[in-house]
Amino acid sequence: MMCSTVKKGVVMGYGRKRVLIIGGGFGGLFCARRLGRADVEVTLLDRGASHVFQPLLYQCAAGKLSTGQISRPLREELARHANVTTLLGEAVDLDPDARQVIARRPDESTFTLRYDVLIIAAGMRQSYLGHEEFAHWAPGMKTLDDALNVRRRLFGAFEIAETLPPGPERDAWLTFAIAGGGPTGVELAGQIREMATRALAHEFHSIEPEDARVLLFDGGSCVLGTFAPELTDKATKVLQKLGVELHLGVHVTDVRHDRVTVTPKAGGSPEDFATRTVLWTAGVEAVPFARRIAKVLDANSDRAGRIAVEPDLSVPGHPDIFVIGDLAGRDNLPGVAENAMQGGLHAAACVRHDLAGKPRRPYRYRDAGSAAYISRGHALLQVGPVKLAGVIGWLAWGFIHIAFLSGLENRISTLATWLGTIARVHRTDRTFILDNTPSAEHSYSWLKFMHPNMLHATRDGGQANPPH
Ligand SMILES: Cc1cc2nc3c(=O)[nH]c(=O)nc-3n(C[C@H](O)[C@H](O)[C@H](O)COP(=O)(O)OP(=O)(O)OC[C@H]3O[C@@H](n4cnc5c(N)ncnc54)[C@H](O)[C@@H]3O)c2cc1C
Repeated sequence: MMCSTVKKGVVMGYGRKRVLIIGGGFGGLFCARRLGRADVEVTLLDRGASHVFQPLLYQCAAGKLSTGQISRPLREELARHANVTTLLGEAVDLDPDARQVIARRPDESTFTLRYDVLIIAAGMRQSYLGHEEFAHWAPGMKTLDDALNVRRRLFGAFEIAETLPPGPERDAWLTFAIAGGGPTGVELAGQIREMATRALAHEFHSIEPEDARVLLFDGGSCVLGTFAPELTDKATKVLQKLGVELHLGVHVTDVRHDRVTVTPKAGGSPEDFATRTVLWTAGVEAVPFARRIAKVLDANSDRAGRIAVEPDLSVPGHPDIFVIGDLAGRDNLPGVAENAMQGGLHAAACVRHDLAGKPRRPYRYRDAGSAAYISRGHALLQVGPVKLAGVIGWLAWGFIHIAFLSGLENRISTLATWLGTIARVHRTDRTFILDNTPSAEHSYSWLKFMHPNMLHATRDGGQANPPH
């Protein structure tokens, strides 16, 4: 049965209550699935059209997994729910009086979506903590584009180093700096050293990939500061054994095309490190649409842009607008997949209760713990009093990630790839592209390769700042 139709650029629904979900991440997908059998008409809008399993983005960046293994088209994911329509588009504006959202297609044209209930699950993006200009040289790790960009830079750096004579320039290409010692920074650091010492170890003739330096910078006194101290200590030892150089108690205060500068948090002289690859994992902030919503709805938000919500996750004064997942600002809800999934299920339950004339329940987050991969045979898992590390933590980590990957095929293929990687050292998805070359007369663009944002507008649509 057709549930909606498009007329003059306005997506119309008829009959049943219209639920519009913005974002097909963990929160949006779980909400849509739960509403799949409810007597409502659901539209799921996502600017990427796919559900991305962000916890494994770094493995895609490091050439272990493909983009297809860690993502799934939302259309395919929700195909069996006749009352769910999925659309590609970026929500850019909201009119709560008219109950409509304006969305932008990738070709910049716009269309309007009407709703009775709006569920905002648009997540967070990388934050450069007030230094937007760092993004030119230091890609983040939030989207598939980020993962492929990082992959290009990692494998490209070894290739470039191979063409250079020994000396400081070559050393800079073989030095990898990572800002942020949380799970993503640690996972990336471990992967790069593993790549250098295993997968790439015997393939080059001029360089020794094992010589690659990996510098991990963090402002705290330890890495993985949200984990219990005994787990953090174990992680630190594994990282050091792997050859990761930890620089703690420092802030990254400048990033340029050939170096990174760090300054001790406690004061002192800044220090420069020559490097051609800087990766940024140091903070998150709300996506631009969330800031727009907060303004239009006159809702409170915190410094990172998380929107304050009522106990049922609705926006104060707007009972038909919910904010779930990373964007929901309440009771220090953690920015983890489990909170987004539970929030999605909760919002769906509220819609169902409203339909049945029953009162809504307050949202209660049940902590499912946290996990971090360090290197082959080492991962941390912390669930309440249970604290696992080493091989047992690694197996538990693998089990959990396979269980939550979307799609049976993705689970089977990821498991097979992992088993293959354990048995052999090589990585199956190392291929990178430099950029789009319009014709054979155009050489691969060096500029675009190294500075992907330089020729484009900035992330918010303004003009790129001139690079240093
Ligand atoms: C590298 C990395 C590793 C992580 N590892 C872990 C881990 O090990 N364990 C864990 O629990 N959590 C982990 N997380 C956190 C977890 O992924 C997030 O908490 C979770 O994805 C949040 O879900 P969400 O639905 O709120 O947002 P997201 O999953 O970020 O989804 C938001 C969706 O909204 C879409 N969107 C954004 N803006 C718009 C717009 N304006 N219009 C339309 N669509 C829009 C995006 O395309 C995206 O699909 C990790 C995150 C990252 C980045």
